[in-house]
Amino acid sequence: MKQDFELPQRFCRYCGSKIKFEMPIGDDHQREVCPTCGVVHYENPKVIAGAVIIHQRKVMLCKRAISPRYGKWTLPAGFMELGEHGSEAAKRETFEEAGTWVEKLSPFAIYTLLPVNQTYLMYFGEVDHVNFPGGIESLEVAFFDLDQIPWSELAFPVVAEILRKYIAYAEGTLESLPLVGEMTIDRFSPTISTNTYYH
Ligand SMILES: [Zn+2]
Repeated sequence: MKQDFELPQRFCRYCGSKIKFEMPIGDDHQREVCPTCGVVHYENPKVIAGAVIIHQRKVMLCKRAISPRYGKWTLPAGFMELGEHGSEAAKRETFEEAGTWVEKLSPFAIYTLLPVNQTYLMYFGEVDHVNFPGGIESLEVAFFDLDQIPWSELAFPVVAEILRKYIAYAEGTLESLPLVGEMTIDRFSPTISTNTYYH
């Protein structure tokens, strides 16, 4: 039986024609190009917005009620919708996962993640209460002392990285915000390599 690794056939979302994979004139990447209507179907990184919510030096984490990583702790974050600013998306995700609106969020960190092609826009905000009942995406919402974070039960490496940076910020060892970092994540094991640049 012939084995090959050709990409599955794709079709133009506008006219339904079979897509060709080629490099448009003047471009430097192979793209999905429609030979009928000429549309180039660009694929670009996904943008995720999220928040580090603090109450009296405790950080809020949500226990995931959805896959992937069901039952693991995470910061509220999710894919941005069209028509949203980053801070609006972070507030919406916080509401969806933690159940309460946070009115003021400030930029905290920008992380790019390879090879998953994601960019994280992380904000942070301080709240004067812990009345976060949780949303349908969370089993539980809790505030953790910075020395009580459940490191082995975190959902994603980027969550651990952002928490480590928040702790450094809280301890006064980061000079200014936002911080900008780059991570390469091994999809098959929880190892990461990180470069962080301080602005
Ligand atoms: Zn087309």
